[in-house]
Amino acid sequence: MRDKNATQLITADAEGISLAAETLRAGGLVAVPTETVYGLAARADSAEAVERIYRAKGRPGFNPLIVHVRDAEQAARYVNFSEAAHRVADKAWPGPLTLVLPLREDAGLAPAVTAGLPTAALRAPAHPVMRQLLDLLDFPLAAPSANRSGFISPTTAQHVLESLDGKIDLVLDGGIPCENGLESTILAIRPDGSWDELRPGPIDLAQLHDDVFGEEMRRGTGQGSIEAPGQLTSHYAPGKPIRLNVTQPRPDEFMIGLGEMPCDVNLSASGNLEEAAAGLYAALHLAAASAKSHIAFAPIAEKGIGKAINDRLRRASA
Ligand code: AMP
Ligand code: MG
Repeated sequence: MRDKNATQLITADAEGISLAAETLRAGGLVAVPTETVYGLAARADSAEAVERIYRAKGRPGFNPLIVHVRDAEQAARYVNFSEAAHRVADKAWPGPLTLVLPLREDAGLAPAVTAGLPTAALRAPAHPVMRQLLDLLDFPLAAPSANRSGFISPTTAQHVLESLDGKIDLVLDGGIPCENGLESTILAIRPDGSWDELRPGPIDLAQLHDDVFGEEMRRGTGQGSIEAPGQLTSHYAPGKPIRLNVTQPRPDEFMIGLGEMPCDVNLSASGNLEEAAAGLYAALHLAAASAKSHIAFAPIAEKGIGKAINDRLRRASA
Protein backbone atom coordinates (compact mmCIF):
# COMPACT_ATOMS: atom_id res chain seq x y z
CA MET A 1 0.00 0.00 0.00
CA ARG A 2 2.83 2.35 0.80
CA ASP A 3 5.63 3.30 -1.57
CA LYS A 4 8.34 4.02 0.93
CA ASN A 5 9.68 7.44 0.03
CA ALA A 6 6.69 9.05 -1.63
CA THR A 7 4.27 11.35 0.14
CA GLN A 8 1.39 12.42 -2.10
CA LEU A 9 0.07 15.98 -1.80
CA ILE A 10 -3.54 16.09 -2.94
CA THR A 11 -6.34 18.64 -3.01
CA ALA A 12 -8.98 18.00 -0.37
CA ASP A 13 -11.89 17.69 -2.83
CA ALA A 14 -14.35 14.76 -2.87
CA GLU A 15 -11.93 12.59 -4.85
CA GLY A 16 -8.99 13.41 -2.58
CA ILE A 17 -11.00 12.74 0.57
CA SER A 18 -12.15 9.40 -0.79
CA LEU A 19 -8.54 8.40 -1.58
CA ALA A 20 -7.60 9.46 1.97
CA ALA A 21 -10.38 7.26 3.38
CA GLU A 22 -9.09 4.29 1.38
CA THR A 23 -5.54 4.88 2.61
CA LEU A 24 -6.73 5.08 6.23
CA ARG A 25 -8.81 1.86 5.93
CA ALA A 26 -5.63 0.11 4.77
CA GLY A 27 -3.77 1.34 7.87
CA GLY A 28 -1.94 4.27 6.25
CA LEU A 29 -1.03 7.75 7.50
CA VAL A 30 -2.79 10.87 6.19
CA ALA A 31 -2.24 14.51 7.20
CA VAL A 32 -5.61 16.26 7.38
CA PRO A 33 -6.49 19.94 7.87
CA THR A 34 -8.55 20.73 10.96
CA GLU A 35 -9.68 24.05 12.44
CA THR A 36 -6.80 23.85 14.98
CA VAL A 37 -3.68 22.60 13.14
CA TYR A 38 -3.02 19.83 10.57
CA GLY A 39 -3.45 16.41 12.18
CA LEU A 40 -1.56 13.22 11.32
CA ALA A 41 -4.37 10.67 11.17
CA ALA A 42 -4.44 6.87 11.41
CA ARG A 43 -7.20 4.45 12.34
CA ALA A 44 -7.40 4.46 16.13
CA ASP A 45 -8.48 0.81 16.32
CA SER A 46 -5.29 -0.55 14.72
CA ALA A 47 -2.13 -1.03 16.79
CA GLU A 48 0.01 -1.14 13.61
CA ALA A 49 -1.46 2.05 12.16
CA VAL A 50 -1.08 3.92 15.46
CA GLU A 51 2.50 2.67 15.82
CA ARG A 52 3.22 4.31 12.44
CA ILE A 53 2.15 7.70 13.85
CA TYR A 54 4.65 7.41 16.71
CA ARG A 55 7.40 6.34 14.31
CA ALA A 56 6.76 9.05 11.69
CA LYS A 57 6.70 11.77 14.38
CA GLY A 58 9.47 10.36 16.56
CA ARG A 59 6.94 10.80 19.38
CA PRO A 60 7.65 9.32 22.82
CA GLY A 61 5.29 6.45 23.65
CA PHE A 62 4.14 8.00 26.94
CA ASN A 63 2.46 10.89 25.08
CA PRO A 64 -1.14 9.81 24.30
CA LEU A 65 -3.09 10.80 21.18
CA ILE A 66 -6.38 12.59 20.65
CA VAL A 67 -9.10 10.47 19.03
CA HIS A 68 -11.27 12.27 16.47
CA VAL A 69 -14.94 11.34 16.17
CA ARG A 70 -18.01 12.61 14.34
CA ASP A 71 -20.07 13.39 17.42
CA ALA A 72 -20.94 12.52 21.00
CA GLU A 73 -22.77 9.38 19.91
CA GLN A 74 -19.63 7.93 18.31
CA ALA A 75 -17.53 9.12 21.26
CA ALA A 76 -19.76 7.21 23.68
CA ARG A 77 -18.61 3.91 22.15
CA TYR A 78 -15.12 4.52 23.53
CA VAL A 79 -15.56 6.43 26.80
CA ASN A 80 -18.13 6.78 29.55
CA PHE A 81 -19.86 9.85 28.19
CA SER A 82 -21.45 11.36 31.29
CA GLU A 83 -24.44 13.67 31.46
CA ALA A 84 -21.99 16.54 32.08
CA ALA A 85 -19.98 15.54 29.00
CA HIS A 86 -23.16 15.56 26.91
CA ARG A 87 -24.02 19.06 28.05
CA VAL A 88 -20.53 20.29 27.22
CA ALA A 89 -20.52 18.56 23.82
CA ASP A 90 -23.91 20.09 23.01
CA LYS A 91 -22.31 23.54 23.41
CA ALA A 92 -18.79 23.06 22.08
CA TRP A 93 -18.86 20.24 19.49
CA PRO A 94 -17.99 20.19 16.71
CA GLY A 95 -15.10 22.49 17.60
CA PRO A 96 -11.63 22.94 19.11
CA LEU A 97 -12.38 21.26 22.46
CA THR A 98 -10.95 17.87 23.51
CA LEU A 99 -12.66 15.94 26.33
CA VAL A 100 -10.73 13.53 28.55
CA LEU A 101 -13.13 10.90 29.93
CA PRO A 102 -12.93 7.40 31.47
CA LEU A 103 -12.05 4.77 28.86
CA ARG A 104 -14.62 2.00 28.35
CA GLU A 105 -13.33 -1.54 28.87
CA ASP A 106 -14.78 -2.59 25.52
CA ALA A 107 -13.42 0.48 23.66
CA GLY A 108 -11.21 -1.53 21.31
CA LEU A 109 -8.80 1.37 20.72
CA ALA A 110 -5.13 0.54 20.15
CA PRO A 111 -3.50 0.63 23.62
CA ALA A 112 -0.82 3.07 22.37
CA VAL A 113 -3.55 5.67 21.67
CA THR A 114 -4.10 6.19 25.38
CA ALA A 115 -0.52 5.35 26.39
CA GLY A 116 -1.93 2.92 28.94
CA LEU A 117 -4.04 5.54 30.77
CA PRO A 118 -7.52 4.70 32.14
CA THR A 119 -8.86 7.72 30.20
CA ALA A 120 -9.10 8.70 26.54
CA ALA A 121 -9.05 12.14 24.88
CA LEU A 122 -11.75 12.74 22.24
CA ARG A 123 -12.66 15.57 19.93
CA ALA A 124 -15.32 16.14 17.27
CA PRO A 125 -13.61 18.55 14.82
CA ALA A 126 -15.51 21.23 12.90
CA HIS A 127 -13.35 21.43 9.77
CA PRO A 128 -15.41 20.29 6.74
CA VAL A 129 -12.57 18.16 5.31
CA MET A 130 -12.03 16.22 8.55
CA ARG A 131 -15.81 15.85 8.97
CA GLN A 132 -16.31 14.51 5.45
CA LEU A 133 -13.48 12.06 6.04
CA LEU A 134 -14.93 10.82 9.35
CA ASP A 135 -18.32 10.38 7.63
CA LEU A 136 -16.74 7.92 5.19
CA LEU A 137 -15.16 5.80 7.94
CA ASP A 138 -16.56 3.33 10.46
CA PHE A 139 -13.65 3.84 12.88
CA PRO A 140 -12.33 6.95 14.69
CA LEU A 141 -9.02 8.66 13.83
CA ALA A 142 -6.10 9.08 16.19
CA ALA A 143 -4.44 12.33 15.13
CA PRO A 144 -1.69 14.34 16.83
CA SER A 145 -0.28 17.41 15.10
CA ALA A 146 1.38 16.56 11.77
CA ASN A 147 4.95 17.51 12.64
CA ARG A 148 8.08 15.86 14.05
CA SER A 149 7.69 15.52 17.82
CA GLY A 150 8.74 18.63 19.75
CA PHE A 151 8.81 20.99 16.77
CA ILE A 152 6.48 23.71 15.47
CA SER A 153 2.93 22.61 14.65
CA PRO A 154 1.73 22.87 11.01
CA THR A 155 -1.01 25.24 9.87
CA THR A 156 -0.50 24.67 6.12
CA ALA A 157 0.06 21.59 3.93
CA GLN A 158 3.52 22.99 3.11
CA HIS A 159 4.45 23.00 6.83
CA VAL A 160 3.50 19.30 6.99
CA LEU A 161 5.77 18.44 4.07
CA GLU A 162 8.66 20.38 5.63
CA SER A 163 8.86 17.88 8.47
CA LEU A 164 7.11 14.68 7.31
CA ASP A 165 7.74 14.40 3.54
CA GLY A 166 8.62 10.79 2.75
CA LYS A 167 7.40 9.55 6.14
CA ILE A 168 3.63 9.50 5.54
CA ASP A 169 1.35 8.41 2.69
CA LEU A 170 -0.78 11.47 1.95
CA VAL A 171 -1.27 15.13 2.74
CA LEU A 172 -4.78 16.47 2.12
CA ASP A 173 -4.31 20.13 1.19
CA GLY A 174 -7.16 22.25 2.59
CA GLY A 175 -5.97 25.30 0.62
CA ILE A 176 -6.21 27.98 3.32
CA PRO A 177 -4.30 28.01 6.65
CA CYS A 178 -6.03 26.43 9.68
CA GLU A 179 -8.55 28.85 11.15
CA ASN A 180 -7.68 28.75 14.88
CA GLY A 181 -4.00 27.98 14.38
CA LEU A 182 -3.55 26.57 17.90
CA GLU A 183 -4.16 23.07 19.30
CA SER A 184 -7.49 22.35 20.99
CA THR A 185 -8.32 23.21 24.57
CA ILE A 186 -8.14 19.97 26.61
CA LEU A 187 -10.71 19.52 29.40
CA ALA A 188 -10.84 16.51 31.73
CA ILE A 189 -14.28 15.93 33.23
CA ARG A 190 -13.79 13.74 36.32
CA PRO A 191 -16.28 11.09 37.43
CA ASP A 192 -17.31 13.43 40.29
CA GLY A 193 -18.16 16.12 37.69
CA SER A 194 -15.22 18.44 38.47
CA TRP A 195 -13.20 20.05 35.66
CA ASP A 196 -9.45 20.21 35.00
CA GLU A 197 -7.97 22.26 32.18
CA LEU A 198 -5.11 20.14 30.84
CA ARG A 199 -4.16 22.53 28.02
CA PRO A 200 -5.38 26.06 27.24
CA GLY A 201 -6.59 26.61 23.68
CA PRO A 202 -9.17 28.31 21.47
CA ILE A 203 -12.12 27.46 23.75
CA ASP A 204 -12.23 29.58 26.93
CA LEU A 205 -13.21 27.12 29.67
CA ALA A 206 -14.37 29.69 32.23
CA GLN A 207 -16.79 31.01 29.63
CA LEU A 208 -17.85 27.51 28.59
CA HIS A 209 -18.45 26.47 32.20
CA ASP A 210 -20.69 29.46 32.79
CA ASP A 211 -22.54 28.83 29.51
CA VAL A 212 -23.14 25.18 30.36
CA PHE A 213 -23.73 25.16 34.11
CA GLY A 214 -23.85 28.66 35.49
CA GLU A 215 -22.84 28.27 39.14
CA GLU A 216 -24.56 24.91 39.42
CA MET A 217 -21.42 22.77 39.61
CA ARG A 218 -18.06 23.32 41.18
CA ARG A 219 -14.97 23.59 39.05
CA GLY A 220 -11.92 21.39 39.62
CA THR A 221 -8.63 22.89 40.71
CA GLY A 222 -6.22 20.10 39.74
CA GLN A 223 -3.22 20.77 37.55
CA GLY A 224 -3.71 17.63 35.46
CA SER A 225 -0.01 16.90 35.71
CA ILE A 226 -0.39 13.12 36.01
CA GLU A 227 -3.00 12.64 33.32
CA ALA A 228 -1.42 15.00 30.79
CA PRO A 229 1.88 13.22 30.28
CA GLY A 230 2.23 14.76 26.84
CA GLN A 231 2.36 18.28 28.20
CA LEU A 232 6.14 18.41 27.88
CA THR A 233 7.94 21.53 29.04
CA SER A 234 9.83 21.79 25.77
CA HIS A 235 7.55 21.65 22.72
CA TYR A 236 6.72 23.66 19.56
CA ALA A 237 10.45 24.47 19.34
CA PRO A 238 11.76 26.37 16.29
CA GLY A 239 15.36 25.25 16.92
CA LYS A 240 16.62 28.74 17.87
CA PRO A 241 16.66 30.57 21.21
CA ILE A 242 13.50 32.63 21.81
CA ARG A 243 13.33 35.73 24.01
CA LEU A 244 9.84 36.68 25.23
CA ASN A 245 8.24 40.04 26.17
CA VAL A 246 10.62 41.96 23.91
CA THR A 247 9.99 45.53 22.79
CA GLN A 248 13.54 46.29 21.56
CA PRO A 249 14.99 43.46 19.44
CA ARG A 250 18.74 42.95 19.08
CA PRO A 251 20.30 42.91 15.59
CA ASP A 252 20.61 39.09 15.53
CA GLU A 253 16.93 38.58 16.49
CA PHE A 254 14.02 37.85 14.14
CA MET A 255 11.30 39.99 15.73
CA ILE A 256 7.71 38.73 15.87
CA GLY A 257 5.49 41.67 16.73
CA LEU A 258 1.93 42.38 17.83
CA GLY A 259 0.25 45.77 17.40
CA GLU A 260 1.98 48.77 15.81
CA MET A 261 5.75 48.20 16.13
CA PRO A 262 8.81 47.66 13.95
CA CYS A 263 9.28 43.90 13.41
CA ASP A 264 10.03 41.19 10.82
CA VAL A 265 6.55 39.67 11.03
CA ASN A 266 3.50 41.22 12.66
CA LEU A 267 0.93 38.75 14.07
CA SER A 268 -1.78 41.43 14.05
CA ALA A 269 -1.19 45.12 13.41
CA SER A 270 -4.40 45.91 15.29
CA GLY A 271 -3.35 43.73 18.25
CA ASN A 272 -6.17 41.19 17.72
CA LEU A 273 -5.35 38.02 19.69
CA GLU A 274 -7.44 35.59 17.57
CA GLU A 275 -5.61 36.80 14.47
CA ALA A 276 -2.30 36.46 16.34
CA ALA A 277 -3.09 32.86 17.33
CA ALA A 278 -4.00 31.95 13.76
CA GLY A 279 -0.65 33.24 12.47
CA LEU A 280 1.57 32.15 15.37
CA TYR A 281 3.03 28.92 13.94
CA ALA A 282 3.46 30.36 10.43
CA ALA A 283 5.50 33.19 12.01
CA LEU A 284 7.63 30.69 13.96
CA HIS A 285 8.23 28.69 10.76
CA LEU A 286 9.44 31.90 9.06
CA ALA A 287 11.64 32.78 12.02
CA ALA A 288 13.13 29.27 12.02
CA ALA A 289 13.98 29.55 8.31
CA SER A 290 15.34 33.11 8.49
CA ALA A 291 19.04 34.08 8.45
CA LYS A 292 18.77 35.51 11.99
CA SER A 293 20.17 33.26 14.72
CA HIS A 294 17.70 34.26 17.45
CA ILE A 295 13.98 35.00 17.80
CA ALA A 296 12.33 37.78 19.81
CA PHE A 297 8.64 37.90 20.68
CA ALA A 298 6.48 40.89 21.60
CA PRO A 299 4.49 40.78 24.88
CA ILE A 300 1.12 38.97 24.59
CA ALA A 301 -1.70 39.87 27.00
CA GLU A 302 -2.56 36.98 29.36
CA LYS A 303 -6.28 37.05 28.55
CA GLY A 304 -8.62 34.98 26.36
CA ILE A 305 -6.66 33.08 23.72
CA GLY A 306 -3.57 35.08 24.76
CA LYS A 307 -3.22 32.50 27.58
CA ALA A 308 -2.96 29.69 25.04
CA ILE A 309 -0.45 31.67 22.95
CA ASN A 310 1.70 32.31 26.02
CA ASP A 311 1.49 28.62 27.00
CA ARG A 312 2.87 27.62 23.57
CA LEU A 313 5.56 30.34 23.69
CA ARG A 314 6.79 29.26 27.13
CA ARG A 315 7.21 25.72 25.78
CA ALA A 316 8.75 26.92 22.51
CA SER A 317 11.35 28.88 24.47
CA ALA A 318 12.00 26.25 27.20
P1 AMP B 1 -1.25 16.66 20.32
O1 AMP B 1 -1.97 15.54 19.66
O2 AMP B 1 0.18 16.75 19.95
O3 AMP B 1 -2.00 17.95 20.21
O4 AMP B 1 -1.24 16.29 21.87
C1 AMP B 1 -2.33 15.66 22.43
C2 AMP B 1 -2.26 15.88 23.89
O5 AMP B 1 -3.46 15.36 24.44
C3 AMP B 1 -1.16 15.11 24.58
O6 AMP B 1 -0.02 15.88 24.65
C4 AMP B 1 -1.74 14.84 25.97
O7 AMP B 1 -1.31 15.80 26.87
C5 AMP B 1 -3.23 15.01 25.77
N1 AMP B 1 -3.91 13.74 26.03
C6 AMP B 1 -4.20 12.77 25.16
N2 AMP B 1 -4.81 11.75 25.76
C7 AMP B 1 -4.93 12.07 27.05
C8 AMP B 1 -5.48 11.44 28.20
N3 AMP B 1 -6.04 10.23 28.14
N4 AMP B 1 -5.40 12.10 29.36
C9 AMP B 1 -4.85 13.32 29.41
N5 AMP B 1 -4.31 13.97 28.39
C10 AMP B 1 -4.35 13.37 27.22
MG1 MG C 1 1.73 18.34 18.74
